[in-house]
Amino acid sequence: MVAIQENIALAPLTTLGVGGPARYFVTASSPQEAVEALDWARQHNVAVFLLGGGSNLVVSDAGFAGLVLHVAIGGVTVRDGGGQRVYSVGAGLEWDTFVARAVDDNCAGVECLSGIPGSVGATPVQNVGAYGQEVAQSIVRVKAIALDSFQPVTFTRDDCAFRYRHSRFNSADAGRYLITSVDFALIPNGPPRLDYADLQRHFADALAENKTPSLVDVRQAVLAIRARKGMVLDENDPDSRSAGSFFRNPVVTVAQYQHIANACSEPMPHYAAAPGEVKLAAAWLIEHAGLRRGFAIGEAAISGKHTLALINRGHATAADVLHLRDHIQRRVYERFGVELEPEPVLLGF
Ligand SMILES: Cc1cc2nc3c(=O)[nH]c(=O)nc-3n(C[C@H](O)[C@H](O)[C@H](O)COP(=O)(O)OP(=O)(O)OC[C@H]3O[C@@H](n4cnc5c(N)ncnc54)[C@H](O)[C@@H]3O)c2cc1C
Repeated sequence: MVAIQENIALAPLTTLGVGGPARYFVTASSPQEAVEALDWARQHNVAVFLLGGGSNLVVSDAGFAGLVLHVAIGGVTVRDGGGQRVYSVGAGLEWDTFVARAVDDNCAGVECLSGIPGSVGATPVQNVGAYGQEVAQSIVRVKAIALDSFQPVTFTRDDCAFRYRHSRFNSADAGRYLITSVDFALIPNGPPRLDYADLQRHFADALAENKTPSLVDVRQAVLAIRARKGMVLDENDPDSRSAGSFFRNPVVTVAQYQHIANACSEPMPHYAAAPGEVKLAAAWLIEHAGLRRGFAIGEAAISGKHTLALINRGHATAADVLHLRDHIQRRVYERFGVELEPEPVLLGF
């Protein structure tokens, strides 16, 4: 039987480092242990929260009155076929450990996602993405346990309903499945993805000479660019004590975009989205609403390196973080009429 612990501090289990304890806590290292823990929660009539690496999470100062189930299911298996290599990866494996392995194996498909904290099992939840790549491009299957029936379920990529920072797992089916493993189809000896402007700038000389950087080169470049923005975890960098980007880039209609752009005195960055829609840059909106890097409320601040990251300066409370969130949302709404949607998951509020 899995060991259920009581009153476990959650702040140290998150990258932002705020919030109170979990009333109950358990680590599940296999699907069987996960089912045992879920069954315990049902018998004791307590709510369950699934925890990976705690890197997209804000825990309330009061903590969580239910069972936090830490998913630590490991293991990687590999099979080749049809010009692809499919990695079946346990949900509890650290995401960047898997990316490093894929790059070492010279398999393309996740190299731009280097340095993102957290677990493999959480990556389908918000369709993790960065530098021109997202996991929806390489995921072929997600294996899970249904929280209501405890039965195993397999989702194909199409079943997952992936879109920008969304999937069924954080929308229609939020909180209904415990992901146990994810299958990624990568391309052995495939070329790196170099769509993103930061990467094109980084490799401008090589690209001008028609040289393609290796997957290792791209991983190193992504890690270096991310470090400059405080977006890789580094205990010596206080700007990395965050939950990543706190706001999604807002997607608006073309008409809304034109209305906002007409009212701006300088060109507003914008990107292609679905037909009839335009993606705006949340960081630009925040800066042009008059909020600068380093702006703080209590011990919570906008990172000095990246306008989208809200950081804990050391002794922040969850209340500080949410006051700062509310202030930023209000200022952007007053200035542009755009509602910024927070990215991290809130627990215990
Ligand atoms: C410095 C920094 C940089 C970041 N950069 C990026 C980036 O570039 N791109 C990006 O997309 N994100 C980024 N993030 C956000 C974060 O790393 C990702 O969202 C990551 O996938 C979260 O993984 P986790 O294991 O820490 O999830 P957690 O924070 O533990 O959980 C997040 C959500 O996933 C659910 N969940 C976790 N595991 C499972 C499971 N096995 N089954 C079902 N549900 C589960 C949780 O219940 C919760 O709802 C960044 C975060 C930080 C701190």
